[in-house]
Amino acid sequence: MSPNRPPTNYLGEEYQRLVDEHLTWEPKELQGPSGPTCKMEGREVIMLAANNYLGLSTHPKVVEAMIAATRKYGAGAGSDRSIAGDMDLHEELDRRLAKFKRAPASLTYQTGFMANEGLIPQLAGRGDLFISDELNHGSIIDGIRISHADRMIYRHKDMEDLARVMDEAEKHDPTYNHIWIITDGVFSMDGDLAPLSEIAAIAREHGAGVYVDDAHGEGVLGENGRGIVSHFGLTHEDVHVEMGTFSKAFGVIGGHVSGSEALRKYALNKSRSWLLSGAVPPGVAAACIAAIDVLETEPQWLESLWNNRNYFLAKAQDLGFDTGSTETPIIPLMCGESKTAKALADFVWGKGVYVLPIVYPMVARDKARIRVQISARHTKDQLDQAIAAFKEGGEKLGLI
Ligand code: PMP
Repeated sequence: MSPNRPPTNYLGEEYQRLVDEHLTWEPKELQGPSGPTCKMEGREVIMLAANNYLGLSTHPKVVEAMIAATRKYGAGAGSDRSIAGDMDLHEELDRRLAKFKRAPASLTYQTGFMANEGLIPQLAGRGDLFISDELNHGSIIDGIRISHADRMIYRHKDMEDLARVMDEAEKHDPTYNHIWIITDGVFSMDGDLAPLSEIAAIAREHGAGVYVDDAHGEGVLGENGRGIVSHFGLTHEDVHVEMGTFSKAFGVIGGHVSGSEALRKYALNKSRSWLLSGAVPPGVAAACIAAIDVLETEPQWLESLWNNRNYFLAKAQDLGFDTGSTETPIIPLMCGESKTAKALADFVWGKGVYVLPIVYPMVARDKARIRVQISARHTKDQLDQAIAAFKEGGEKLGLI
């Protein structure tokens, strides 16, 4: 430490290090709604990087609900839900979501990140253990880090490894009081599914809790898009916490957890993110309720999403792309090195297609890829245009 040096100098130096290592993040400006095509940086592009799987962010019922509630209740809730901002709309959303999830109770948060970061550290503390899939989302990793519990990692989706870790945990001295297995439902970089039935069986055998983060599964999997618990025919007796977000297929913003009545009451009293931060605006709560209504009454969007996903996947595979282990509308196009993934993303951007290159450190150094995210609203023509761009770029870069 030198008293003559401005204390924030290191920030500029650290930033420069990120620039030198090509690790900076430069968001592109979206100049209109998130749709199958978007205006981005002044250009019209086919959007293949949004989480808006069903296009509900612009669904008239969702938009109108937001406007009407904003007119009636105002732009903000005026407080944290825990203090003076718990509007009837927030309570209605909690109940409506629980009904949709077929769970005894739900609690909605400001974001999915805040749900994970707020609840996970309260589920286990000293003398307890989290067992976590190695590819879990950053918000789960942070939630576990904040806790005082021990942590063990199992290899991605590897049930033998999970059983091994569980056996090791059983031998721990002193015996753990509570053990939680925690996993993404849909893994956001590969689009593959957690083997939730097997996880639930292992948990049952050992008396462990199961926590699933279904951010990318809701609106996409299960009956009417109820998510991964419904997809595998499980219940909240098997999966004790089903966490999710309104920011993806629901098209709005907000996080949530569903499970027992006791879980809701406990989460509400213990999650610091819920207790100590402002409530989502009433318009948001109303829009989320409307999005649930749309999921229940307009199954055509889910159908169209899967038709589009199957169409694009077949075309990409026919071209010879390695599409990894996808089981969902998240389709990776494996590129190997980071610079190849960046080059392919740049090439298709030049052809009017926007995709995200997923590069180190988000994935291993040799596992860089393009992540394609399909929407129910893409037309076949748009998907064909994107495929044509990937074909040209893939050939140029020697990927196909
Ligand atoms: N979990 C997973 C698996 C996610 O992909 C995300 C969003 N990137 C989140 C949690 C956080 O959700 P939210 O956007 O609501 O904060």
